[in-house]
Amino acid sequence: MSDPESRREALVEVYNQASACERCPLSETRNRVVFGAGNADADLMFVGEAPGAEEDRQGLPFVGRAGAFLTELLEGIGLKREDVFIANVLKCRPPGNRDPQPEEIDSCRPYLEQQVDLIQPRVIGTLGNFATKLLTAKPTGITKVRGTPQEQLIGGRHLYLLPLFHPAAGLRTPRVAEQLREDFRLIPDLLEQPLPEPEPLVADREVEPDQMGLFGR
Ligand code: URA
Repeated sequence: MSDPESRREALVEVYNQASACERCPLSETRNRVVFGAGNADADLMFVGEAPGAEEDRQGLPFVGRAGAFLTELLEGIGLKREDVFIANVLKCRPPGNRDPQPEEIDSCRPYLEQQVDLIQPRVIGTLGNFATKLLTAKPTGITKVRGTPQEQLIGGRHLYLLPLFHPAAGLRTPRVAEQLREDFRLIPDLLEQPLPEPEPLVADREVEPDQMGLFGR
């Protein structure tokens, strides 16, 4: 399915499913499901961690203080929030903003997979450790990988993933804010790059089951 209108309609269908989701116990404590927001045909997508209190109240991602900083970072490279799509690893707020748990990430992951599949971004900026570890399928922390674009197979699509610090970390530490500004400046060029080529198939190599999934390679 490649025409934008059909993909947008399919995304609305996923939104409707997610809005009534009861796949994990976060459905008992959330006020609103925060599916994600923005341009359904965006070349650039961001994936954060999970909704906070304000997001849970409004049903929209990144509308608190970290969100204001994300907007500022985008404006710094000439983009508006409407140009991009912003989602999270978890669609529901963990009580007290605790870390997402592995079972919650597993339950919620199909929504993110479908979002990537339908939006078809060229570049995904992962904001913080949870999104970075999930989408790179590696345990390496954000401090080591931030600002280095990676070619990844995600949502059945070869694209560029750019690991970034979480904007909330930038609010706490001025040096991190500076590094975020620096890393965001890589984005315009990355958006202009031709999509990475799939690696050639190696006939005599066995494909592990986890290499056939939407995430990881
Ligand atoms: N932090 C996140 O990771 N996501 C949000 O939507 C808000 C804050």
